[in-house]
Amino acid sequence: MMMKFIFGLFAVLFSFSLMAQKEDSVTIKKIADEILTNGGAYENLRFLCKKIGPRLSGSAGAQKAVQATARMLKEAGADTVYMQPCMVPHWVRGEKEIGFIQLAGGKKYNLKLCSLGNSIGTGKKGVSAGVIEVKSFAELDALGTTVVKGKIVFLNFPMNPTYVETFRAYGESGIARWNGPSMAAKYGAVATMVRSMASNPDDYPHTGVMKYNDSFPKIPAVAISTNDAIWLSKQLKLRMAPLTAYIQNTSAMLPDAPSFNVVGEIRGTEFPTEYITVGGHLDSWDLAEGANDDGTGCMQSIEVLRALKAAGIKPKRTIRAVMFMNEENGGRGGEKYLELALANKEKHVFALESDDGGFTPRGFSFDVKDDQFQKLLQWKDLFYNYGVYFFNRGGSGADVEELNKAGAGLAGFVPDSQRYFDIHHAVTDVFENVSRRELHLGAVNMTALIYLVDKYGL
Ligand SMILES: [Zn+2]
Repeated sequence: MMMKFIFGLFAVLFSFSLMAQKEDSVTIKKIADEILTNGGAYENLRFLCKKIGPRLSGSAGAQKAVQATARMLKEAGADTVYMQPCMVPHWVRGEKEIGFIQLAGGKKYNLKLCSLGNSIGTGKKGVSAGVIEVKSFAELDALGTTVVKGKIVFLNFPMNPTYVETFRAYGESGIARWNGPSMAAKYGAVATMVRSMASNPDDYPHTGVMKYNDSFPKIPAVAISTNDAIWLSKQLKLRMAPLTAYIQNTSAMLPDAPSFNVVGEIRGTEFPTEYITVGGHLDSWDLAEGANDDGTGCMQSIEVLRALKAAGIKPKRTIRAVMFMNEENGGRGGEKYLELALANKEKHVFALESDDGGFTPRGFSFDVKDDQFQKLLQWKDLFYNYGVYFFNRGGSGADVEELNKAGAGLAGFVPDSQRYFDIHHAVTDVFENVSRRELHLGAVNMTALIYLVDKYGL
């Protein structure tokens, strides 16, 4: 009798979960059909890229983007749209950088270069010095002050091509850009040239943030294109002696400037004080349109709200689409969002960030507890038809990664990463390099995940 009862209970539970799965797959199909037919992310992105363009923190472009996305969130059907004021670093590039290698017979090799974000400038006079190449910090340490003092250090840390996951290579080689200038300054270098963080050889300097260590002098830091780095390395090897380089940049850090995160909400019907966040970062580097970094993540997040509304889904919990300010050179928007969440004692259930580009969806990366991950895994098959085939454990996104302090499970949207570092932080990060289909398919998967987390909790 008892066995029969248990079997019966199993059958009921099993058929219930099958029914729930069926119901969810129907709803997700509805979401997908809506976005793939009427999706608005691509046209919003066109506006952001072509009518506004670069949006570095503290710039006029960033302020225009705040206003534009507030409007987009309203049009998407958010019940409430508001701004969270925050102070941001205000770095400016100044005039177009100049740099060359002095060759024999008075000839020059002009470098394709740009200042790294947060770098000080050389001033109009520029800096001229011998170039020393290093391929690791261990090599730099070994050379020490005797060799490095008075030189321009060329940090040649190629992204490892054998890593299929390009972000892994970026994480490893990126230390040259983040820490390299201060590591070189420690031994008396007068400036640094960093090989661009790009997966393929190209002719574009890729900028990005660097951070000064206050223990050492601040020295100017520029990125040179991968092709120039390859050329320079070869020249230094051939000549077996330092070549002289000249760098001129006028970048500068100004006082902090006022800016905003932009938040759009759909208020929850059952648990309005429980929050689910979906976002990207609104600021972008100044060299291009910030299309894939991170216009796509912002526009997809707005699309999540629009699609839920358009598909007639009334979320139980409050869903927030958040445009975070200043991810690129400070992270102040993410900090402000967390600060307010804690100060207001908000209950955060889940936060999803899209900041790896608007490419073809591949998976999600979760930073959650064990039981939460088991729950998420039960939904994985629902995504298969829409191109998402893995749910991994790992990082989320720079703007949400500390929201677990407010109780949230965290996730990052993971699109295909092969082309991301062709355009990352370079002039090539433009609207034309985003596919409407890929962008919208990403939004489909993001909306489906938000729908499931909202319906069942985490
Ligand atoms: Zn980004």
